[in-house]
Amino acid sequence: MQVERADTLTAGAPAPTTLETPEQIFSRVFRQLRPRTPLPMIHVEFRRYATANAQVKLERGALLVKLADSLEGIPASVMEALAEILLCKLFRRPVPAECNQRYRRHLNRRDVRRSLDLIRQIRGRKRVEGPQGVRFHLDELFEELNFRFFNGLMARPILGWSPNASRTLLGHYDPSHNAIVLSRILDRPDTPRVAVEYVLFHEMLHLCHPTEHNGARRCVHTRAFKDAEKQFERLAEAKLLLRAL
Ligand SMILES: [Zn+2]
Repeated sequence: MQVERADTLTAGAPAPTTLETPEQIFSRVFRQLRPRTPLPMIHVEFRRYATANAQVKLERGALLVKLADSLEGIPASVMEALAEILLCKLFRRPVPAECNQRYRRHLNRRDVRRSLDLIRQIRGRKRVEGPQGVRFHLDELFEELNFRFFNGLMARPILGWSPNASRTLLGHYDPSHNAIVLSRILDRPDTPRVAVEYVLFHEMLHLCHPTEHNGARRCVHTRAFKDAEKQFERLAEAKLLLRAL
């Protein structure tokens, strides 16, 4: 269940003129990126989120921005970087490296991490063995892949190692618990990092490519999923390594 906490278009006192609202920041970035396009209505909502830190879409001439409530009150410079990342992605333009870095630095700040961890603890509903393995720390791998492939926009699900070392199920994403679990068999000193990265990346794609139901047929790995998977540079190598396990 998602609970809408604040709607900055209709709630709250007007901001002082020296401080830009999130809507004003998005408007300014929109104008910079698309100077000749008429400015759409911009609507920013902070919501309690399970699967995304931030999303944006154009719908019937309005720009709808949905941000995780953990992003409420972030510094304007970080909001601006986030606006640029989201709008560049919307317009299929490359995201300036500086924006990615600024947003990443913010998320990596210790106090921010701590409050995110707290939110996760409170909302976490599934007990799996923790993300810290013998060789690999899944939270660290996740954040690296998040920035490499998702502009840091994916909210971290619960990550953990399976209690048993399954060879047949190397990883799975459980949407009802918003958890990714990797088989402990991958957490060994001699496992190549690229193999673990690939399994985790594959499960992360399940968060943004939901299963399609076509009558009685269920398609887990859709065309869009497979195309997205090709972004992984060493895909063939990783698949071979996993087969050798
Ligand atoms: Zn899969």
